[in-house]
Amino acid sequence: MARSNTSVDVAVIGAGPYGLSLAAHLRARDVEHRIFGDPMGSWKRNMPPGMLLKSYPWASSLSDPRSEFALKTFCAERALAYHDELLPLSLSRFIEYGEAFQRRYVPVVERKTLVALEPSAGCFHATFDDGEIVHARRVVVAVGLHPFKRLPHQAAHLPADLCSHSGEYGSLQPLDGKEIIVVGSGSSASDLAALLYERGVSVSLVVRRPQLDFAGYPRPRTRFERITAPMNGIGHGWTLATCAKFPQLIRLLSKDLRVRLANIRALGPLGGAFMKDRVIGRVPVWLGRTLESIQTREGKVLLALMDASGAGHSMRADHVIFATGYKIDVGRLAFLNPTLLRQIRLVEGAPQLSAHYETSVPGLHFIGPAAANSFGPVCRFVYGTYHPAHHLARHLSAVLARFQPAPRMPSLDLEALP
Ligand SMILES: Cc1cc2nc3c(=O)[nH]c(=O)nc-3n(C[C@H](O)[C@H](O)[C@H](O)COP(=O)(O)OP(=O)(O)OC[C@H]3O[C@@H](n4cnc5c(N)ncnc54)[C@H](O)[C@@H]3O)c2cc1C
Repeated sequence: MARSNTSVDVAVIGAGPYGLSLAAHLRARDVEHRIFGDPMGSWKRNMPPGMLLKSYPWASSLSDPRSEFALKTFCAERALAYHDELLPLSLSRFIEYGEAFQRRYVPVVERKTLVALEPSAGCFHATFDDGEIVHARRVVVAVGLHPFKRLPHQAAHLPADLCSHSGEYGSLQPLDGKEIIVVGSGSSASDLAALLYERGVSVSLVVRRPQLDFAGYPRPRTRFERITAPMNGIGHGWTLATCAKFPQLIRLLSKDLRVRLANIRALGPLGGAFMKDRVIGRVPVWLGRTLESIQTREGKVLLALMDASGAGHSMRADHVIFATGYKIDVGRLAFLNPTLLRQIRLVEGAPQLSAHYETSVPGLHFIGPAAANSFGPVCRFVYGTYHPAHHLARHLSAVLARFQPAPRMPSLDLEALP
């Protein structure tokens, strides 16, 4: 039976790396909170088994309050193979690590979905899919990328059996025996193409760009390289190093610069280093092909494509997967009440955030990829969990303590008075 009308100081919506890290810090500071969502849910349900992480293992740790449970420690405790850079990190190992982190630091996660969030006097009413209504003084939204899948407008009319987004595959089994076209040039596209090919599925990759780029294989770097282009949690070079280390400084830049940095070209689209040899020379790749239109005929999908010379081409398949990324647009968060939505000041669809990750609606915070237009590209990576977990937990602990209602004096028991 669902409880109703309960109240809490902080409701954390989402139990991925960002929500779990924040909850671990809130717990350590004794801040009253509840966390909702499926622990590591996006990694279990929206990424294909066999995928390798693109981030270095040393930069793929969640943030715990004492910085004592990095991925490296998890692997050492279990005698699992680990290298900071030279060994790829598999999706399954990362999920195991995230779940171990959750059991250790966030033992209670409520596996339910927020369906409506409404402002109310001094708090928020959060309604969940089991009917519970929680009154929360602060709400932190950490729902990741999944609600923001981007599909080309030409695909809007296609039925789900002919077309999907790369973020819909926690298993590739439904694609067995089909003829598949993957559209895209980033790591999701090359990962899916390689993994499907290796399952024996007939797959082609269609790429708009003139070439398919992959990250370089990790290798020991010279002293000169380390000085001129230092490695950091999200890439190489001084710009990315500054973004990774000081996300709080990004907020002070102009809006245009912040948005440019959030989408910085150095971060892709780029295939993962360890996938290159599993794609090139194996999967048929059609480069420089722009999607013109899509039609369906006799249960198949027909793509009309144009190459760089302007010549038209058509391709036919049972199903097309668009690995065309994500675009943050809080208007697509169905749980946001329209009044609330209107009050959230936006930067290109993402919330404009204060130094405390707070939107223009007091008490409503966003962390994770939705914070990238304010705090820079590190928010798009697990490496970025450190700053919001430390900073926001400290901030919430301070403001909630300051505004605790004064303790009520026990009423005088007149009968007991002499
Ligand atoms: C294919 C792919 C590969 C990636 N590879 C890497 C990589 O190698 N390294 C890296 O650093 N980053 C990678 N990323 C980026 C990665 O998604 C983010 O770094 C990270 O997952 C963001 O964490 P998060 O906690 O914000 O969101 P997520 O991990 O997406 O978690 C979202 C959480 O929100 C919950 N949720 C959603 N809606 C609701 C709701 N209405 N009510 C309650 N709960 C809800 C979900 O159940 C889940 O628990 C990759 C992304 C993709 C798509």
